[in-house]
Amino acid sequence: MPVPVRHPSPRRFSRAAARARPAPPPAVSFKQVELAQRGRMILDVAELDLAAAEERLGPFHDTSWHFRRALADARTSWDRLRIQYGLAVLEAALDEPPATVLTLGRPDRDEPAAVLIVIAGHSYALRRQPDTADAPRIWRLLRLPDPGDGPFHACRLADGSTQCDCAEWTYQIAGLSDSLCKHLAALDALGWL
Ligand SMILES: [Zn+2]
Repeated sequence: MPVPVRHPSPRRFSRAAARARPAPPPAVSFKQVELAQRGRMILDVAELDLAAAEERLGPFHDTSWHFRRALADARTSWDRLRIQYGLAVLEAALDEPPATVLTLGRPDRDEPAAVLIVIAGHSYALRRQPDTADAPRIWRLLRLPDPGDGPFHACRLADGSTQCDCAEWTYQIAGLSDSLCKHLAALDALGWL
């Protein structure tokens, strides 16, 4: 007597396949990447400004109120972007290589206080370090807000190779290949390496 063969129903099969294969990230335009990254940086800076003002001057000082309004504006702008493009597009845009740079001025000096870019969804403050004979290009990168594992130092060495002191480079890349960690990749995309 033949054994009946049971085929999985097409519906169950397609559901399992959908679970196993994550949806590809949505396609994003350059403008969406630029707006999302800029919005993210402005929001992060506004939060840090308010926290610093409250700590130094107290919550009711005029400066604290100024930064509180700036943060409310930044949140409103971010919410508008989310409504316009959707969260999936914004998250995909934040994962793209840096498309825009935010420069924070320092009134008493010519050089900027900080240069900000977005790397893998997070704002980073960058500062070029003095060159050395071994490393003609060195950048210091601090994630904002600082989770306590940085700052990182990403550099181009005199022999043309690259190096970073982050965990990704140290444990996954060093000595194995000439691939770049996310910090080096972002600097490379900007042509700053
Ligand atoms: Zn790195």
